[in-house]
Amino acid sequence: MERKRILITGAAGFLGSHLCDRFIKEDFHVIGMDNLITGDLRNIEHLFKLENFEFYNHDVSKFVHVSGDLHYILHFASPASPIDYLKIPIQTLKVGSLGTHNLLGLAKAKGARMLIASTSEVYGDPSVNPQPEEYWGNVNPVGPRGVYDEAKRFQEAITMAYHTFHGVETRIVRIFNTYGPRMRLNDGRVLPAFIGQALRGEPLTVFGDGSQTRAFCYVDDLVEGIYRLLFSDYVQPMNIGNPDEITIREFGEEIIKLTGTDQELVCHPLPTDDPKQRRPDITKAKAILGWEPKVSRQEGLKITYEYFKSLPDKEIQHKDF
Ligand code: NAD
Ligand code: UDP
Repeated sequence: MERKRILITGAAGFLGSHLCDRFIKEDFHVIGMDNLITGDLRNIEHLFKLENFEFYNHDVSKFVHVSGDLHYILHFASPASPIDYLKIPIQTLKVGSLGTHNLLGLAKAKGARMLIASTSEVYGDPSVNPQPEEYWGNVNPVGPRGVYDEAKRFQEAITMAYHTFHGVETRIVRIFNTYGPRMRLNDGRVLPAFIGQALRGEPLTVFGDGSQTRAFCYVDDLVEGIYRLLFSDYVQPMNIGNPDEITIREFGEEIIKLTGTDQELVCHPLPTDDPKQRRPDITKAKAILGWEPKVSRQEGLKITYEYFKSLPDKEIQHKDF
């Protein structure tokens, strides 16, 4: 039987590369696409020798062409760390808006089913905790995070419009903070930041007083949730994340314990519009997909720490964002 063909954008990034691995394992023909703006080809170099993997170095904010049949599209291209999207705000807005539009056009032309990577950031600085999918959010459109949050909100809107008006089969996953091997050590997100600091023997930088919360999901759990959502009939947005909520201060203390560093936590100013609380309500994912996270933070952090520790020393010492 002919293999099903899937296009994965953001393939050289953290999540995109794990999704490529999963769909290769499921015997799909995987077409990876990435312009490498925040990604790294090393994340997928092990796939280049496979006959069922192809890679296109392309900016999806420009017209996207793929020849032949296409059955599925996973749109994961977008800077995802606050440091990245503050550095490249216009590209971030473009990939969420123009990039999504191009890919929806491709999905329509090919009759492909398209899943988009949305985010818990559509909830902004939420006034309800945990956040159910019905919550409309509290986003500052003109604040520094607005370029990401509003691009993702537009992405959801245009995706739903293509579903309603053009009958494109679409899926929307709202991803909550996810971590694991292949994150960039210097991408500025809290987990690589803390582990990098511990490995370099520097104090761990807690922003604000560290009372803000996040809930961290291990990448394998997220990939399983996305896989199930893609093959479900559910077209409304769905939260996928681990509800195990923790303050950033407690998280820093966990990293200190895990790494055995003799360093301490130091407070830095809280970035503008930093959400005070975040935790997914996963009632829908449990009921509709039969999904819930399986990997505890303790287990997931251990695997991720081993990954970062195994990187060349030159990379561990390189701090520039
Ligand atoms: P990442 O930065 O590791 O990966 C993003 C990839 O997209 C990179 O390889 C980058 O080069 C590529 N890219 C960016 N703009 C592009 C463009 N115009 N054309 C082609 N490629 C482009 O980030 P990630 O953590 O893997 O995030 C992937 C997706 O998941 C993003 O859409 C992000 O918004 C979403 N997401 C991630 C998280 C998380 O916790 N990791 C949470 C919520 C949502
Ligand atoms: N944070 C921190 N120290 C760092 C990096 C981040 O205290 O060195 C905080 C940040 O202010 C936020 C939380 O950790 O409250 C998670 O930040 P991250 O950038 O990982 O993702 P976010 O959930 O904010 O998108």
